[in-house]
Amino acid sequence: MSNNVFFEPTEIWTQTCNELKKLIPEDAYTRWFQPLSLVDYRAGKAVLGISNSIYQYWIEENYITTLQGAFETVTGSNVKVEFKTIQPDGSAQMVVSERTEPTKSKKKLHGRTARRSYADSIDLVPRYTFDTFVVGTNNEFAHAASVAVAKSPARTYNPLFIHGSVGLGKTHLMHAIGHDMLKESASTRIVYVTSEQFTNEFVSAIQHGELANFRKRFRMADTLLIDDIQFFAGKERSQEEFFHTFNALFDGNKQIIMTSDCSPSDIAKLEDRLVSRFEWGLTAELQAPDIETRLAILKSKATKLNIVLNDHVLLFIAERVKANIRRLEGALNRVAAWAALNDRKIRQEQVEELLKDFIQEEARHVVTIDAIQRKVAENFDLRLADMSSKRRPNNIAIPRMVAMYLSRKMTSKSLQEIGESFGGRDHGTVLHAVKKIEARITSDANLRQQIHMVTQQIESGN
Ligand code: ADP
Ligand code: MG
Repeated sequence: MSNNVFFEPTEIWTQTCNELKKLIPEDAYTRWFQPLSLVDYRAGKAVLGISNSIYQYWIEENYITTLQGAFETVTGSNVKVEFKTIQPDGSAQMVVSERTEPTKSKKKLHGRTARRSYADSIDLVPRYTFDTFVVGTNNEFAHAASVAVAKSPARTYNPLFIHGSVGLGKTHLMHAIGHDMLKESASTRIVYVTSEQFTNEFVSAIQHGELANFRKRFRMADTLLIDDIQFFAGKERSQEEFFHTFNALFDGNKQIIMTSDCSPSDIAKLEDRLVSRFEWGLTAELQAPDIETRLAILKSKATKLNIVLNDHVLLFIAERVKANIRRLEGALNRVAAWAALNDRKIRQEQVEELLKDFIQEEARHVVTIDAIQRKVAENFDLRLADMSSKRRPNNIAIPRMVAMYLSRKMTSKSLQEIGESFGGRDHGTVLHAVKKIEARITSDANLRQQIHMVTQQIESGN
């Protein structure tokens, strides 16, 4: 059935293009696929030659599933798509897919991990380095801690725990540490996994009676990078196994670095002994970037993409895409793609049109301090004005603290900005409020319930 071994890449590509033409509008086909070539095809991997990384961004963002489907129709097998930049002189340079989380290809490595040479096979995204990481007030602490750990592993902060919501640079920082350590010593053994992979490999090791190998792989590491630890929530056996891995490494004076989308104590169903262990070292939080940092990130990425965009266009993007740096990049890529393929200068209306879905998406997620104050006032029976007043009776002070606490949890505003919205209080007052409510929630079920209810109302926008 599978006669594709006889196919030449050009033949496969011609047929795939014919499939594509049936699936996408003609102008999209002409613009995005016609200029490409298939430079290599083997073992389920297709390498497309592109003249500009914009093609990769655009195709990965919009057409990757369609393209894979077309390849599959033609070749009868699953195809992984990669891109190569073809230089004007005809030589090619591999482009590591930036949008593929390194975890995906990793699963196949199971079983031969013990033989891996660490320096060249570890799945660190090449561009996730300290050089490409823009430092702003939102991330300077986590950045400084990461640099310190990279410089003297296991001697400064162990473990290092980086947390923050999605798309704020946790994986980037973690890989940057790995790169730096490898630069320092190519033979240092770094193991990078997500907690999901750890769990999968652990389960598979049990099934195949390879537990000894599994343990060896992790316990021989000089540095263990373990990403997205929140995935351990509720997975008791994996937690147990990780607990032992952690202890073995820690006792052996090896560095452990972890990331999570929330602080150790906020990970539901994580055993207390793990929580306390994670807090032994240093915990650093990544916050949403402020406008200056967002602008700096956009400028830095534009330079790397080799595109020139007007300052007002960059500002327009930075003002609208706030909560997630990955989305910020996505927005820039889209505008860059347009700019690269149209000679005309891009105008504001076009940017608006191009980014319509980004902007709508943001609007859905933006919770304002104002909305929080209103909801809290409503639910706790006080006047909105009491949120910023100096009055201090408990029946006002507590709800006000709840509103500050929620502003901290639900918006990307800084402590200072939150303080300003509450009648010009300073950031220490806000921090105190957040801590106080956090502590109260654990002992006061009523309050916890009430906060939960308000949160839901705010989230649903009712
Ligand atoms: P997380 O792991 O927190 O979800 P990532 O580390 O995957 O986030 O980052 C998302 C994207 O944003 C990546 O492409 C990363 O390079 C980029 N990014 C995040 N923070 C920064 C920063 N401070 N400077 C430059 N790029 C950043
Ligand atoms: Mg990540």
